[in-house]
Amino acid sequence: MTAGTGPWPALPSLPDPATDAVLAGPLLPELAHAFGGPFHFLLPDAFDANLRAMQDALTSAGVDGFVYFAKKANKAAVFVERAAAGGAGVDVASAGELREALGHGVRGEHLVVTGPAKDTALLRLAVQQGALIAVDALDELDALLGIALTGRVRPARVLLRCLPPQQPHSRFGMTEAELATATDRCVQAGDAIRMEGFSFHLSGYALQPRADLAAHLTDLCLKARTQGLEASRISIGGGLPISYTDADSWHTFLTRHHSRHYHAGKTFRTGDFYPYHSPNAGPRALAALLTTRPEGHGRPLADLLKDAGVILLLEPGRALLDRAGATVLRVQGVKDRDGYQLLTVDGTSLSLSEQWFNSEYLPDPHLLPQEPDSPAGLFPASVGAATCLESDMLTWRKVGFTRRPRTGDLLVYPNTAGYQMDSNESPFHDLALPPKVVIDHTDRRRPRWRLDRHFT
Ligand SMILES: *Cc1c(COP(=O)(O)O)cnc(C)c1O
Repeated sequence: MTAGTGPWPALPSLPDPATDAVLAGPLLPELAHAFGGPFHFLLPDAFDANLRAMQDALTSAGVDGFVYFAKKANKAAVFVERAAAGGAGVDVASAGELREALGHGVRGEHLVVTGPAKDTALLRLAVQQGALIAVDALDELDALLGIALTGRVRPARVLLRCLPPQQPHSRFGMTEAELATATDRCVQAGDAIRMEGFSFHLSGYALQPRADLAAHLTDLCLKARTQGLEASRISIGGGLPISYTDADSWHTFLTRHHSRHYHAGKTFRTGDFYPYHSPNAGPRALAALLTTRPEGHGRPLADLLKDAGVILLLEPGRALLDRAGATVLRVQGVKDRDGYQLLTVDGTSLSLSEQWFNSEYLPDPHLLPQEPDSPAGLFPASVGAATCLESDMLTWRKVGFTRRPRTGDLLVYPNTAGYQMDSNESPFHDLALPPKVVIDHTDRRRPRWRLDRHFT
């Protein structure tokens, strides 16, 4: 049963047949019984479909490109396995992520290593594995050069990461002057460094600034080639938006939501919410980006890339995980408050990370009643965690459930694979970390499940 309408703003998740099939079957109550606590389920077929659609968007635009899955968005092994099988690479930012990616089948040359001031051990591993390294600073380039010269293994493959002029306060990337210095040092480094191009990652989800900066980096490639460098590719990072809900629900929510709709009169700044609906989402956002005309250019980005012979790399995290999983909790207690209920579930907001960014994960959770004859009506309820922290709420908003929530019912937060599940997870209070259940082949009559193989 999804959340209702009436006086309580609703944010129904977009329909998804694979998720709905799991919700409708006997699997979730069985698994809740087996694990005796919260768990996540993963739908890797959705990952495959998202990846294929992005690769198709590149092909349709005639753009030579390569997709890296930004691993930080979800720790599960299955997505790395699917990336490797689907002809994608993986974006890693730690030795642990690098090890996981290699161990689950991604070739070293298909890794890109991002993140600030990477430690020496990570840089050495990256060089040994032939991974592409997005260099974030001049001292990092020097450290890398030292490794490449002494390691006698192979040249270090680098991209130079740009500090976006549109986001001058970012702590990532190099200024225009630093990029020029870094480029010169790459020339001087000779065979020790293979300078393959430039990269950026922008906060926010707007397309125009991405197109503008991609065009600028394409120009930098052309310039670097005149200095004898390879400069054959640019990475535009991540930030392809996804839609969790329909346009109407989202815009209605934004105009109507009010502190009285939240437990304890809690307020969130509207600007701190993720944009839960985007007119162009996922692969369509990529297609739209390729047709965007960068400022000062009469032609779309795709044409600029093709003319310059520049390969487009991208590092989507969230957009590859759209509809690829959900989070299941059990209602452990129900309290009546003035005009609404307070549910306590058997997990914490550390398994639904948005609360840790001054925000809240808004798509309505589904209530799966576990006893027959649960009363129908409109039952607003907020959702608290099984911890002793006043602030540990999964949902401050009073969700208008259409059945009366009762102890033992299951609560399923949809579409949580991108960042929600595990980026902040912790065994706080000695609560077990929620296991991840992989549901393969959702097209079978009876879905099959297994545990994910992430081993750290
Ligand atoms: C986080 C990150 C990404 C992925 O961002 P999404 O918004 O999940 O697509 C890609 N590249 C870099 C460098 C990042 O830090």
